[in-house]
Amino acid sequence: EVPPIDADFYNIGDKLSADDRALQLKVRGFMEKEIAPIVNEYWLHDEFPKEIIPKLSELNIAGLSFEGYGCAGKSSLLEGIIACELARVDASIATFFGVQGGLCMGSIYTCGSEEQRQKWLPPLQQFKKIGAFGLTEPEVGSGAAGGLTTTCEKTENGWVLNGQKKWIGNATFADIVVIWARDVADNQVKGFIVETTTEGFSVEKIKDKMALRIVQNGLITMKNCIIQEENRLPNANSFKDTAKVLQATRAGVAWMAVGCARGAYENALAYTTQREQFGKPIAAFQLIQNHLVEMLSNLTAMQTMVFRLSELQDQGKLKDEHASLAKVFCTLRTRDIVSRAREVMGGNGILLEYNVARFLADAEAIYSYEGTKEINSLIVGRSITGFSAFV
Ligand code: FAD
Repeated sequence: EVPPIDADFYNIGDKLSADDRALQLKVRGFMEKEIAPIVNEYWLHDEFPKEIIPKLSELNIAGLSFEGYGCAGKSSLLEGIIACELARVDASIATFFGVQGGLCMGSIYTCGSEEQRQKWLPPLQQFKKIGAFGLTEPEVGSGAAGGLTTTCEKTENGWVLNGQKKWIGNATFADIVVIWARDVADNQVKGFIVETTTEGFSVEKIKDKMALRIVQNGLITMKNCIIQEENRLPNANSFKDTAKVLQATRAGVAWMAVGCARGAYENALAYTTQREQFGKPIAAFQLIQNHLVEMLSNLTAMQTMVFRLSELQDQGKLKDEHASLAKVFCTLRTRDIVSRAREVMGGNGILLEYNVARFLADAEAIYSYEGTKEINSLIVGRSITGFSAFV
């Protein structure tokens, strides 16, 4: 008899209260019932299933760890576990959530005024408004800290924004985008809530991606967009403030990597117990078991790592280097796990319908966004050596 698949080998889920566990299982049920059946088709066609947005809203999980403004005020641990549950079925849906709740709402929650929070967070929390986060540019990715070329300039009519932003998730149908721009007066990075209806603002969809195909990434162009002072984030006065937002979202990406790895592992394990060669299930061969155990070892190391990461976050002790280390380790290990998951499935591993190929492709994007392996490694390297190797 085949034992049930539970990739939470050390029972991290036991750390949740009964209420939190119920929410986790509710989200899992939603993802398995509503998302799993449609996800390959949308991935194939490079489209986002907008009809699920009202159902996502009912789960009440956007900005889960924020206090007030309609947010549930739950722990970072639960927020991480929910991100993992989303990614366990589909990393694109998890990314959509990460952009809405983490990057966009997180920027307004962390750097916005009380009025801005009251105006924008409730509709974003309920998905009545869709948000995005524009930091990366066509020519400036890893070097965003000192190199942004998008400019903002204060004039009598308001702030004038010019420049381009590339890779911006949700941008093609967002209502607002938090735009990060360099102030020509003091050379510091500032943040703005830009409504996508603003004159001079346009978005072009980035087509033909081989990963996270459901996420709608856009190339944004801003030509003399005028933004009023009331839409400038008053607590974003240098890149250090942007980094505060990224610290929390990188922890979220580490959890998403766990989910992505978990989804691939669970599908692969189930497959190996069913698929027979040489007259017995391939899971009965030692070499296949070795693959499975190595996958589970890494997965378990990742889970215990992000569990502690969230504890630090909940205690207010999280540092940039903590989040970066987890982001690097988990996304790197995920690449190995999804690749082995594909391997133990033989040829079927490259077919979308066997539910591992999508994770294999998506892991590539997770590995590179929110700071590549190199950039997050350099953040950790700076912390442990005292030397900055960025430039
Ligand atoms: P580059 O910076 O050009 O890097 C290329 C390579 O050089 C990498 O391997 C990098 O690690 C390496 N490298 C660069 N500098 C150094 C160095 N000093 N030392 C050693 N190696 C170095 N951005 C947003 O603002 N908002 C979004 O919503 C968003 N969503 C995204 C979604 C997807 C699917 C993807 C792929 C990207 C998204 N991004 C988004 C952008 C993402 O954050 C960038 O792709 C990432 O930061 C890397 O930048 P780059 O692609 O320009 O690569």
